[in-house]
Amino acid sequence: MEYNLTDITTVRRLLSAAGFTFSKALGQNFITDPAVCPKMAALSGVGPADGVLEIGPGVGVLTVELAKTAKTVVTVELDKRLLPVLAKTLDGKTNVFVENADVMKTDLRALAEKYFAPGQKLHVCANLPYYITSPVLMRLLGCGVPFESLTLMVQKEAADRITAKLGQRDAGALTAAVEYYANAETLFYVNAGSFTPPPKVNSAVIRLTRRTEPPVQTKDEEWFFRTVKAAFAHRRKTAANGLSGELGLGRQAVADALSSLGLPPDARAETLDMRQMAALADRLYDMRG
Ligand code: SAM
Repeated sequence: MEYNLTDITTVRRLLSAAGFTFSKALGQNFITDPAVCPKMAALSGVGPADGVLEIGPGVGVLTVELAKTAKTVVTVELDKRLLPVLAKTLDGKTNVFVENADVMKTDLRALAEKYFAPGQKLHVCANLPYYITSPVLMRLLGCGVPFESLTLMVQKEAADRITAKLGQRDAGALTAAVEYYANAETLFYVNAGSFTPPPKVNSAVIRLTRRTEPPVQTKDEEWFFRTVKAAFAHRRKTAANGLSGELGLGRQAVADALSSLGLPPDARAETLDMRQMAALADRLYDMRG
């Protein structure tokens, strides 16, 4: 049986039959605007031979769209109470696999090996639970599964940070990781009225397309990310402050590194672009004890 998963009455009936009540803590705001999920699936770049990982299917409103587009859909849902609902709404969809797990504790490489074929093009498409946007994104980028694209619904402010470039006002440590691995763009905005229940924030769908080469070469990738995190550690203070404190380097050494790159000693992290940040990381790398 096909359910209309954007019809609020149908969704409420399915949920109450399972004894489900919405959990704010789990970021449970379900899409009930019929235009949103088909648009996300269409813009995700997922092709008929591809595999797609979804995080947090809810009642499966995006999952059913992805099932039409992809060869294989793997969807990870933490909330056990949604399993009987998904059993109904995804009944007969033989290319969809539901994993009852916390995405933050899931070995994504093992999951990909279990469900996807070797060489299959892989993507992520998800309406994320907003409380874990940054850590999930870091996991997806760093997990070693070569996802070609990530199409994600996130809070609008998070979209601004993620799609910013280093050197711009909205930039942060997450911006750097995203810019290093991917090209990020905002596809469209979604207002609170498109969800049941409506969240208190506005949302945006972003797409990250993996780069074939990072935009900068650094001496040590791990050190580069440590440097970025340290530079942004105390947002209202200077980059030097975070760098000397977090990396255990002398203040003078950090000041010397900045001035050798033509940067003032009181430079703030958000004024450094990707090339300057990489050059700074390399200078500091040579100064480690
Ligand atoms: N995809 C559905 C939609 O668009 O209507 C639901 C999206 S809702 C914003 C987020 C979903 O993520 C919920 O179903 C929630 O239970 C699930 N979730 C929350 N935390 C999770 C976690 N750590 N791992 C996996 N799923 C999680």
